Amino acid sequence: MQLTKNQIIEYLQGANDAALFYQASQLRQKYFGNEIFLRGIIEFNNHCKANCNYCGLRRSNQCTHRYSLSDQEIHHCIEIIVQNNLGTVVLQSGENTREEINRLTKIIREVKKKYPLAITLSLGEHSFETYQKLKDAGADRYLLRIETFNKAIYQNARPQRNLTDRLRCIEDLKRLNFEIGSGFMVGLPGETIETLADNIIQLTEMDLDMIGIGPFIAHPDTPFKNYPSGDYLLSLRTLALVKILNPLANMPATSAMESARTGGRLNSLKIGMNVLMPTVTPASLKGNYNIYPGKNTYLKCDNEILELKTILQNAGFDYSGARGDSLKYLKKNKAQGVKNV
Ligand code: SAH
Ligand code: SF4
Repeated sequence: MQLTKNQIIEYLQGANDAALFYQASQLRQKYFGNEIFLRGIIEFNNHCKANCNYCGLRRSNQCTHRYSLSDQEIHHCIEIIVQNNLGTVVLQSGENTREEINRLTKIIREVKKKYPLAITLSLGEHSFETYQKLKDAGADRYLLRIETFNKAIYQNARPQRNLTDRLRCIEDLKRLNFEIGSGFMVGLPGETIETLADNIIQLTEMDLDMIGIGPFIAHPDTPFKNYPSGDYLLSLRTLALVKILNPLANMPATSAMESARTGGRLNSLKIGMNVLMPTVTPASLKGNYNIYPGKNTYLKCDNEILELKTILQNAGFDYSGARGDSLKYLKKNKAQGVKNV
């Protein structure tokens, strides 16, 4: 479906929530049915070289207790994902050193030899060569949110970084035939309804396999602590609009939605999202993966996978541990004769 910028703005302003949410959920139903893909996420360390003004892991934040899982601990988390029959592991961290990336590359090789798992990475900005090493080791997918397409807002949120480099990273990942995910935060300081509509349009032009969107949540130990968090309802409308414009993309119900409002993840599924990412980071450490308040702390249980399966069942959804490759990506590679994707 096509929408003009004016139509997008009207929907964002609440012109017809009922129709918007219904259309988005119908599209999910059409392409994915009632099934929610579960992906196990391992936040294997929280060290970061970057200094994003919104994030609790920024290098200048002295209040975060830093940790790094050992090889053995990462393998143990992978075992949990396999035992719970999930087909995708997501490995996420702050922006790490070359040594850490090399260590991860070795682990990816070992895991791919052992299990038919899809491996998704979310490690921030790196060189083409580094991405290539990770791809050669067997990584399948990469998540790198653009955060915002507005240069001024970007510059203000990510000092010493620039939008052009971030876009270049996504181009590199595309060239390497990763399945690509991107997205943005709703409500970064300086955002207007206009810039939000532009984000929606420009993200759609990227023709992505996966799209992750959530509200900005103000973190008390960051320079953005006094800004208001992104609006929950506006985020829900944004998710629905992006689903309508990108019906084939896999879209998670993000934990930032849950931080913004209890039940926010389930509501995101109800309006068309089709992916959930339970964390398998050890319970004793996951609270330190403190990107924003509420991240990893609202489910008080040992096994988030089991907990989320129950929540899904009670809400009338089916869950799936299938690899859940992007429909778009499969189509593209089939057309180009690429095997084993
Ligand atoms: N270091 C990697 C991956 C971890 S951060 C990277 O930056 O790409 C993953 C995502 O968390 C970021 O892309 C950002 O969109 C989101 N995030 C960070 N701080 C946030 C905050 N305060 N509120 C909401 N989302 C946030
Ligand atoms: Fe680091 Fe990612 Fe947080 Fe930025 S958003 S400080 S790159 S972990």
